[in-house]
Amino acid sequence: MRGFVGFANLPNQWHRRSVRKGFNFTAMVVGESGLGKSTLVNTLFNHKLYPKKEVPAPHMERPKTVAIESISADIEENGVRLKLTVVDTPGFADFVNNDESWKPIVDNIESRFDAYLEQENRVNRAKLTDNRVHACLYFIQPSGHALRPIDIEFMRRLHQKVNLIPVIAKSDTMTDEEIHLFKQRILADIAHHNIQIFYAPSYDVEDDETLAENEEIVRKIPFAVVGSDQQVDTIDGRRVRGRAYPWGVIEVDNEEHCDFVKLRQMLIRSHMEELKEHTHNVLYEKYRSEKLVAMGV
Ligand code: GDP
Ligand code: MG
Repeated sequence: MRGFVGFANLPNQWHRRSVRKGFNFTAMVVGESGLGKSTLVNTLFNHKLYPKKEVPAPHMERPKTVAIESISADIEENGVRLKLTVVDTPGFADFVNNDESWKPIVDNIESRFDAYLEQENRVNRAKLTDNRVHACLYFIQPSGHALRPIDIEFMRRLHQKVNLIPVIAKSDTMTDEEIHLFKQRILADIAHHNIQIFYAPSYDVEDDETLAENEEIVRKIPFAVVGSDQQVDTIDGRRVRGRAYPWGVIEVDNEEHCDFVKLRQMLIRSHMEELKEHTHNVLYEKYRSEKLVAMGV
């Protein structure tokens, strides 16, 4: 199983259609610098999209992202090819003035909508390239307190433009009890501010097993994640992706240790299609109609 990302398990029908059309997916990561965004992307796709510097000094962190940058990779699995694009955004704590640090991110999402709109308006619309952002992972600092005003501001600016998926970063730095309380607090804040996050819908699901799996995913939101692109040895002699501590190993792929598996399942295995459809049918459609009204069409 190791090294297996899982998109080859997507429903067959969708496969054929997507493979023909060019199977692509664009994810965005947002959050403060140093919260583990690049590491989690590498972990999710089991792919070094963000390679480490050649011989890094032990104290050195990865370079900060100062501008929005997008990185693409072709990943192949069981004959299915996925063109993955990750849009990495500057950490907002890096700005001297954070007041409008959400703006370049919103601009980026909108310019991708515009590019799609422009293609739709062409006479020949046979081949549309979809570079819209299909999911946005919002990294919350593992403080254990509450969402900060800047988190709320960001989420409010983003939630009607992109499928928002909140994650608690570096959750290995918190105890289970702390995570449990923090999740409740985050969900309460999100509800209080009327922020819409992506809730793995299950409208097309017929069988009970899938329905139960779905509920389990939803129960984990906001996902408490741990990322690592290192293999470490457990006390019982297994080699796993994880983070080693003096008291033991936190395993990324162990559901007892964190919600990474559930996040990956939703993003890549069970809900990739819904994320794309919701982007097209709801988020893009809203943007498009508002734009047309503003233009007086
Ligand atoms: P970014 O600035 O958000 O892209 O963060 P990076 O992925 O570059 O990670 C910043 C630092 O945090 C690196 O030293 C990582 O090894 C470390 N890190 C990444 N993910 C985790 C995690 O889940 N837990 C812990 N404890 N550290 C992490
Ligand atoms: Mg980074």
